[in-house]
Amino acid sequence: MTKLDCLFVYPGAPAGKKNLLPIMPAGLPVMAAYLARHKVSSAVVSLPTARPGEFNLPALIKARGVKLVCIPAHWHRQTGGALALAAKLKKAVPGVRIVLGGYTASYFAAAILNDFPAVDFVVRGDGELPLLRLLKAFGAGPAALKRVPNLAWRYGAAVKLNPVSYAASSAELSALGMEGLGLVLNRDLKPRRGMFCEDGMFTYLQARGCADACSACGGGRDFQRKHCGRKGVAVKNPAAAVQDISTLMGSGFRRIQLPLDPLPSEKYWLDVLALLKKKGLKPELKLELCGLPSQKLLAAFAGAAGPDSRMTLFAGSGSERVRRFNRGRFYTNDALLAALKAAARLYVNIWVTFTTGLPFETRADFLETDGLIRRMRRELRMERAGVYVFSVEPGSPLFEAPEKYGVKLRRRVLAGFLAQRGRYDMGYATEHFTEAEIVRNLKSLERTARGR
Ligand code: SF4
Repeated sequence: MTKLDCLFVYPGAPAGKKNLLPIMPAGLPVMAAYLARHKVSSAVVSLPTARPGEFNLPALIKARGVKLVCIPAHWHRQTGGALALAAKLKKAVPGVRIVLGGYTASYFAAAILNDFPAVDFVVRGDGELPLLRLLKAFGAGPAALKRVPNLAWRYGAAVKLNPVSYAASSAELSALGMEGLGLVLNRDLKPRRGMFCEDGMFTYLQARGCADACSACGGGRDFQRKHCGRKGVAVKNPAAAVQDISTLMGSGFRRIQLPLDPLPSEKYWLDVLALLKKKGLKPELKLELCGLPSQKLLAAFAGAAGPDSRMTLFAGSGSERVRRFNRGRFYTNDALLAALKAAARLYVNIWVTFTTGLPFETRADFLETDGLIRRMRRELRMERAGVYVFSVEPGSPLFEAPEKYGVKLRRRVLAGFLAQRGRYDMGYATEHFTEAEIVRNLKSLERTARGR
C-alpha cells in the first residue's frame, strides 16, 4: 500500500447531532493538491457522504503511515464534529498528529490547544504553505515549529502562537486549482449535500477575504486582518476561476454556487462571465451578491449562465436605516426594486434574502421588511424572497463589540458555540428583541414571503 503523508478529513456532525452546515470546504482538495505538487502525498475523505463501511480511518492511517490528519473547523457549526473526530482518532492511533484549521479554529486556536489534548496544532488563516512547512518540521524540534507561519502549537504546558505571516496573494491563489478533486478517496463523488455542496450546488470560492465588514459576518475585512493576516482581498484571476469551473464541470459538478462577493466593483464578475460565454461552458450558476447588479451585469449573466441559473441578493433588512447600519454595501429599496424589474426584463431568475434580528432593528423596521416583501409580491409578482436569522459568529464585528451594536451575547467562548442546539439557537438578543421574539418575527416573515 502506498504511503500517505497527509490526510484531510471532513467529519460532519458529532454523533447524535444534526449537521447544521453540511458542506465540505472546497479548500481541502485545493490544499491537498498543493501539498501533492510539493511532493507530499495527500488525500481527502468526506465522512458524511461515505458509503457505509467505506472508511476505517484508524486502519487507513496505520496502513498508509499517515503523518498528519487535517480536520476543518471552519464555521463554528462544524467545530464540534472536528473536535469529536480528533478525539476519536487520537484514541485509536495515539501517534498520529492532528491539526485543525479554518475560521473558527483560527479564532479559538489557544482555547482549542488548551482544552482539547487530541489536537496537536492549529493553523490560523490560510493553510497550504503552513501545512507544507509543518510536515517538513516534524522531527526537527521546537525551533523548527517556531518557524512555521500561522502555526499554533504546544511547548510543554504553554501554547505558542506563531505570527500569522502567510496569506495567499492573488497570484498565489490563482495558481491553486481544483485538480485536487482527484485526491478525494470517496468512491462516489456525485454532487450532493456534504460533498462540497449545499442543495446540490458546488460551493466554489474564487477569493479569500472581503473589502467590507458587515456587522454579523464572521469572514469580513476586520476578521481577515486580525486572524488571517490578510490586508486586502486575494482574488483568482478570471481565467483561473473559469478554468476551475471547467474542471468542476468535467468532474460532474455542473451546478455551481458562487457565495463570496468580496469586492464592491462588479468588473470581476463581468470578466468571469465574458470568459464563460467565450468558452461556451454554460454552468448552472447561483451568484450571490452583497450589492445590486447593474443592467450590464444582469445582461452578462443572462448571456453566460446556463439554464436554471439564478442570482441571490442579500438585502439584510427591508428597512433602509437598518441596512445602512449593518451592511457594507448600501442601496435603497427603490434601487432594489429597479434592479429586480431590470432582471425580470432580461429573464434573470433573482432571489432576495432578508434577515430579521439585525442590530438596531425596531418593531417599525421589522414591519418595513414585511411591507417590502409584500410590495415585491404585488409589484413584481415575486415569490422568491427568502428570510433567515443569523447565529452569532465568532470574530464578527458585533461579536467583537456587542455594546456598539446594542446586542447581548449569550455565547462568548468556544464551549458556548459547541453547545449550540439548532438554527434557532442564535446566541444573542438585541436591544429591541429577545431571541424568542426574533424567531417569532422570522416565522411571521416566512408566512409573508409565502403569501399567507
Ligand atoms: S457579508 Fe459579504 S460583503 Fe459583508 S463582510 Fe461578509 S463576505 Fe463581506
